[in-house]
Amino acid sequence: MTKRATTDDFTTDPWWWEAARPWPSGDAPLPGAVDVLVVGAGYTGLSAALTLAEAGREVLVLDRLLPGEAASSRNAGFVGRSLLGGFGQMAKKLGIAETVTLHGGAEEAYDFAVDLMGRLSIDCHLAHRGRLLPVWNQAQYDQTAAEFELQRRHLRIEGGMLSERELAQELRVSGARGALLIENTSSVHPGMYHAGLRRAAEAAGARVTGGCAVTHLAREAEGFAVRTGRGSFRAREVVIATNAYTGGLTPWFRRRLVRSNATMAACEARDPALLKSLVPGDRTYIDYSRYQFNFWRIAPDAPSRLLFGGQTGLMFKRPEEIALLLQADLERIFPPLEGTRFTHLWSGEVAFTMDRLPHLGVHEGVHFALGCNAAGLPMGTWIGHKVALKLLGDPDGATPYDGRRFPLSPSILGYPWFMPLLTTWARWQDWRGAAARGH
Ligand SMILES: Cc1cc2nc3c(=O)[nH]c(=O)nc-3n(C[C@H](O)[C@H](O)[C@H](O)COP(=O)(O)OP(=O)(O)OC[C@H]3O[C@@H](n4cnc5c(N)ncnc54)[C@H](O)[C@@H]3O)c2cc1C
Repeated sequence: MTKRATTDDFTTDPWWWEAARPWPSGDAPLPGAVDVLVVGAGYTGLSAALTLAEAGREVLVLDRLLPGEAASSRNAGFVGRSLLGGFGQMAKKLGIAETVTLHGGAEEAYDFAVDLMGRLSIDCHLAHRGRLLPVWNQAQYDQTAAEFELQRRHLRIEGGMLSERELAQELRVSGARGALLIENTSSVHPGMYHAGLRRAAEAAGARVTGGCAVTHLAREAEGFAVRTGRGSFRAREVVIATNAYTGGLTPWFRRRLVRSNATMAACEARDPALLKSLVPGDRTYIDYSRYQFNFWRIAPDAPSRLLFGGQTGLMFKRPEEIALLLQADLERIFPPLEGTRFTHLWSGEVAFTMDRLPHLGVHEGVHFALGCNAAGLPMGTWIGHKVALKLLGDPDGATPYDGRRFPLSPSILGYPWFMPLLTTWARWQDWRGAAARGH
C-alpha cells in the first residue's frame, strides 16, 4: 500500500484559520488622496498603520491578498528575542560592542511586541513558556553552550544547557545529547494576534483593504501617484511592508531579499497523554542543529494537536508530496508518532537578508521596513512601529539598524534558485548521519 501523509479531510488552509480566518474588507471605493499609503497588511504594515493612525494621520493599508493571508497568519507563533545566525559569529566580524547593539534591537522588538499585546488586550494565547533546542552530539553541545554563555554575558537572555537526563523531563526524543533552554521567550496564536492588530489599527482610524494590489508608484512634487487594481489615488507618503512577498512594484527591495518557503502542518488528533509524554515541557521547539531544521509545539487550546513544521525548500512540489517529507521528519524525531497524518498543511514565504539584519528607512522617497529573517512576529511589529515614528519625525524612531547598507542578494527576482539544491543536500546529510548512528 502506498504511504499517505494527509487525511481525507485534508486542507491547505492554515490550522490558525480555524480560530482566526482572515476576513475581507468590503469594496467601498478607494479615497482620492491619503496622508500615508501602507503596502502590505501583515504585522509590519498593521503596526506601522496603528502608530500612524494613533498620531492622527489618515492611513490606507492595501494588500494584494486578504489582510493577513500571507506569512502573518501562517507562521508558528514563536516569539523570540535574538537575531538569526547567533552572537559569536557576528561578534567575530563586527566586534562585541556593535554585536550587542544589533542584538539589542531584537530584544527591544521582543519587549515591544509582548507589551503591545498587553496594551491592546489582544487575546492570542500569549504564553511565556520558553524555547527548547535539542543538540545531537558532544560537539554541538559544546558549541551551543559556548554561544549561550557569550549571549548570557552580554544580553538579557535567561536559561541554560540541559543534560540528557534533564532533557528527558522536557522532550522525549531518542539520540539527543542535551538541549539549550531559553526561558524568556514566548508563543502566541499568530492568526489571533494578527486579527487583534488589525482590529486595533482599524479602531485607531486606519483603513485596511484587501484584494487590492498596488501596481505602480510614481513620485510627484508632493508625494506619489498610486495605481492599484481598483483605481488610482494620491498619497503624500508610502510605506513598503511587503517582506517576502515584495514583487515587481519595488524591484530595488526585491533584489535585496532572499525569499524562502517554509511549511507547517497540523497533525491529526492524537491522544493528549501521548503528546504530553513526548513534549512534557509544552514549550516551543526548534531543531536546527542538524543540517535541516524543524520546529513544533502543541497547539494552544488543543492538547490533542501537535503542530509541526520545517523548511522543505521544495516550492514546486504538491502539498501531498511535501506532507510525505514532513511526515518523515516527524517520524525521525518522534518514532511513536509513526503513521500520523496531517489534517492541515500550509506554506508561506519568509524573507532573509544577506547580513541577516532587518532593514528600514527611506529609499528614493519611499519608507520601508523589510527583511524579518524568519522572526517577523516580534521584529515586523517593531520595525513597522519604528518606520512609522521615523515618518512622523519622532527621534524615538531610531534603531540600531539605521543607515546600514542594504546588501544585494544573489537570488533571481527574490527566488533563491539554490534553495532546493541546499535542501536536498541537507536531507542527504541527515540521512547519512542517521545511518551512521544506526537509527
Ligand atoms: C511557516 C512559517 C513559520 C514561521 N514561523 C515564525 C515564528 O514562529 N516566529 C516569527 O517571528 N516569525 C515566523 N515566521 C516569519 C513571519 O511570519 C514573518 O516574518 C512575518 O509574518 C512578516 O510579516 P510582514 O508583515 O512583514 O509580512 P507578510 O505577513 O508576509 O505581509 C506582506 C504582505 O504584503 C502584501 N503585498 C506584497 N506586494 C503587494 C502589492 N504590490 N500590493 C499590495 N500588497 C502587497 C502581501 O500580499 C502580504 O500580505 C514564519 C513564517 C512562515 C512562513
